[in-house]
Amino acid sequence: MSTPIYVIGSSNTDMVIKAAILPKPGQTVLGGTFLMNAGGKGANQAVTASRLGGSVTFIANVGSDLFGKQALQQFQRENINTSFVTIDKDRPSGVALINIDENGENSIMVAPGANAYLDIDHIRVALDSIQFPAILLLQLEIPIQTVEFVIEEAHKKNFSVILNPAPANTLRSELLKYLFLITPNESEAELLTGIKVIDIESAALAASILHEKGVANVVITLGAKGAYLSNASVHTLIPAPPVTAIDTTAAGDCFNGALAVALAEGKSLTEAVSFSCKAASISVTRMGAQSSIPIRKEVDVLPLVTVI
Ligand code: ATP
Repeated sequence: MSTPIYVIGSSNTDMVIKAAILPKPGQTVLGGTFLMNAGGKGANQAVTASRLGGSVTFIANVGSDLFGKQALQQFQRENINTSFVTIDKDRPSGVALINIDENGENSIMVAPGANAYLDIDHIRVALDSIQFPAILLLQLEIPIQTVEFVIEEAHKKNFSVILNPAPANTLRSELLKYLFLITPNESEAELLTGIKVIDIESAALAASILHEKGVANVVITLGAKGAYLSNASVHTLIPAPPVTAIDTTAAGDCFNGALAVALAEGKSLTEAVSFSCKAASISVTRMGAQSSIPIRKEVDVLPLVTVI
C-alpha cells in the first residue's frame, strides 16, 4: 500500500484569452478565443497525484461561489478526499486571468480570494487528523505563515514534506532543514540561492547551496532539459523525454504531483524523478492545466528515461 499524500494549497479557476497580441494598458484587443480551466498549483498537484494512483487528500479553501462549487465537485470526481476543503462564505474563489499572444507570451493576474485565507487554524484541524506515515506536498500560493506552520508541525510528527517553492518566494531559512525535498524551477532556484540556473553546472551549484542551507534532497526542474537531482549520494541530470510541447502550463505541477506518488510507492528518488519527467512530458503536449495531466497507464507505457 502506498503512503497517503496530503496536498495543502490553492485552487483557482483560470480564465484564458488567446489573441494575436497582449493588450497594453488602456488598450482593448478584439478577436481572441476564450477557455476556462480548473487550475491553482495545489489543485493541479492534487489532481495529478490522484490520476497517477496516489491516495490523496486535498487541504484547501474555496469560495462559496459557482467556481468553488465546481472545483469541489471536480476534486470529488477525481477521487480526491475533500474532507478538508472548506467553503469560505465570506470570500470569492481564486481566479487567474491569463492573456496569451500568438507567440505563447503571457500576462497573468491572480486574485487569490479564499486561497489567501487558508490560515493556521484551518490547517491545525486537518494536520491533527493526519497519521504517520504521510507525505505532505506544499506550494507557495497560500499564506507563507501557513506553509511555515505546516513544515514545523510536520517535522514534529516525522512526516515527509515536499516543498515546491512556487510562485517564487522565500520562507524562514531555518525551516529548510525540515524538508525532505525541495523542487524549485530555474527562477525559483535563483531566488533561493542567488545562482542563475541555466545548465547542469549552475543547477549543481544552486543545489549545493540549498544543501548548505540544510535541505537533504534537491530537485531543480529545468524545463525541456529535464530535472537535476542532488543529495548526499546522487548528483545527476534526469533528462525529459523529447516531445513537441504545445503548452507548458502546469508542467511543474504535474511533475510535483507525480513525484509525490512515486515516493509514496517507495520508489527511489532517481526512479521518482524519472517517473515525474515522463508524466510532465505528456502534460506539455496538451493544452491547459488539469486538462493536460495524464493518467497512470499513459506514463507507465513510456520507456524508462536514461539517467545521464
Ligand atoms: P510551469 O511553470 O510551466 O508549470 P515550471 O517552470 O514550474 O513549469 P519546468 O522546469 O518548466 O517547471 O518544467 C517541469 C518539468 O516538466 C521539467 O522538469 C520536465 O520534466 C517537464 N517539461 C517541461 N517542459 C518540457 C518540454 N518542453 N519537453 C519535455 N518535458 C518538459
